[in-house]
Amino acid sequence: MSEAGKGKVYLIGAGPGDIGLLTLKGKECLERADVVVYDELANKSFLGFAKKEAEFLYVGKKAAHHSLPQEKINELLVDRAARGQVVARLKGGDPFIFGRGGEEASELAAAGIPFEVVPGVTSAIAVPAYAGIPLTHRDFTATVALVTGHEDPTKGESNIAWDHLAHSAGTIVFLMGVGNLSRICSELLRAGKSPATPVAVIERGTLNAQKTVAGNLETIGGLAAESNIRPPAIIIVGDVVGLRDKLGWFEKRPLFGRRIVVTRAREQASRFMTMLTELGAECVEFPTIEIIPPASWEDMDEAVRDLKDFNWIVTTSVNGVGYFLERLYAAGKDARDLKGIRVAAIGPKTAEAWHGAGIKPDLVPEEYVAEAVIESFKRYDLSGSSVLIPRAEEAREILQDGVAAMGARVRVVTAYRTVRPVREVQAMRELLKEGLIDMVTFTSSSTVRNFMGMFSDERAELMEWMRHTSVACIGPITAKTARSEGLKVDLVPESYTIEAFASAIREHLERS
Ligand code: SAH
Repeated sequence: MSEAGKGKVYLIGAGPGDIGLLTLKGKECLERADVVVYDELANKSFLGFAKKEAEFLYVGKKAAHHSLPQEKINELLVDRAARGQVVARLKGGDPFIFGRGGEEASELAAAGIPFEVVPGVTSAIAVPAYAGIPLTHRDFTATVALVTGHEDPTKGESNIAWDHLAHSAGTIVFLMGVGNLSRICSELLRAGKSPATPVAVIERGTLNAQKTVAGNLETIGGLAAESNIRPPAIIIVGDVVGLRDKLGWFEKRPLFGRRIVVTRAREQASRFMTMLTELGAECVEFPTIEIIPPASWEDMDEAVRDLKDFNWIVTTSVNGVGYFLERLYAAGKDARDLKGIRVAAIGPKTAEAWHGAGIKPDLVPEEYVAEAVIESFKRYDLSGSSVLIPRAEEAREILQDGVAAMGARVRVVTAYRTVRPVREVQAMRELLKEGLIDMVTFTSSSTVRNFMGMFSDERAELMEWMRHTSVACIGPITAKTARSEGLKVDLVPESYTIEAFASAIREHLERS
């Protein structure tokens, strides 16, 4: 908790869903927050911007969840800020457009709680834009109205002056109106709007699941029902809707609506995902490995205690260095206690991890495999020296055997373990079972093995779930591994690059 008196509430607009539509300021506020209060309209991945130790409070309005009534939300915001916490109140779209942000701000003002409003990209504007519908256009209209579609149809009197609205606004955008669509259309017709007036309904706009249905005031009700349009959706009434045929772009991207699994393989993954995302696909990142500390630090701590006995420390990964240093510091020691000990780092990233502690490794082999390290050690006389190797629990023996063969005494300690992330498997299982994955991509043999290993107890089921899922491999070796694991490989690009891989995927999915 932050210091009392420092409490503040940021009413943040989270945008309509696409993660790129959160503002920089919104992101900064999230990063600073002690508490994040959110509901279901906000994209969940935003929560990743907050500090790990921040508290996350869901106050959403989904029927299935027990949600907090508005007064309770208001109270919660006041209470947390009064306790000195920085509160990020994330709201879908813009907080002051039909978001009850005005009510929350009033409560804060009344309670004397400092607050700021961080405007967001409202769905009323962003969703039409993603559907290729400009709300204003010189040739069509100069006026726009944003209207709630949520009025209770059984309520005798309406707050909306339908007659006025029908004739004054060139474009009318209704939020929260799906359930009342037919009533909205009939009110506008009764007020004298032409039955031929174009109408579009857009569900889950700016997301990969965006769905647009277009018709006119007479037909849209039936069309939306046929397409099973559900909230959240917005309704746009007006001639500008017709521009959509020419200006639509989001739903026209080649891989729009496709869901592709990227089995994470080192640095490649993010560039690869960016390419697929730009083509319109939704990438599901599937980390097949999670790094966790060893069951006990006993061995490592003992090695740190006996540090003076070692002539060399040989490290093979960033994690190995990280955990070693962590235990060094935990023992009240630091880099100065490594004086006189030589350090080897396999690979530039591992070497960099040492740089962070002010240490320049003595030996950084050119190649990043254990065999190469052994080769490069030949320059040194290791006989009789004592070598510490902090590394992954399940690492290959080749490094320690090679060093020992040169006459060194080797002490191997477990710095970390790699495990299969259980939660991700559960989520992936559901997606595959539901047939929601169009393609699984593999960028190395180990990603294939890890992926298959995660379903080792349910191979037959996996094959069944993946019946309609394509399998793409970056090169012939990866493909061979995939086939040997029983997968049917649908595509291997002609050249072994991420670019060629992405364009082969595009071609394949456009055909299928
Ligand atoms: N403050 C929000 C609106 C909250 S009211 C904003 O500025 O966007 C909730 C309504 O917003 C929904 O009923 C729906 O009409 C609309 N909405 C929000 N996100 C949407 C999306 N991604 N696609 C379509 N409509 C959306």
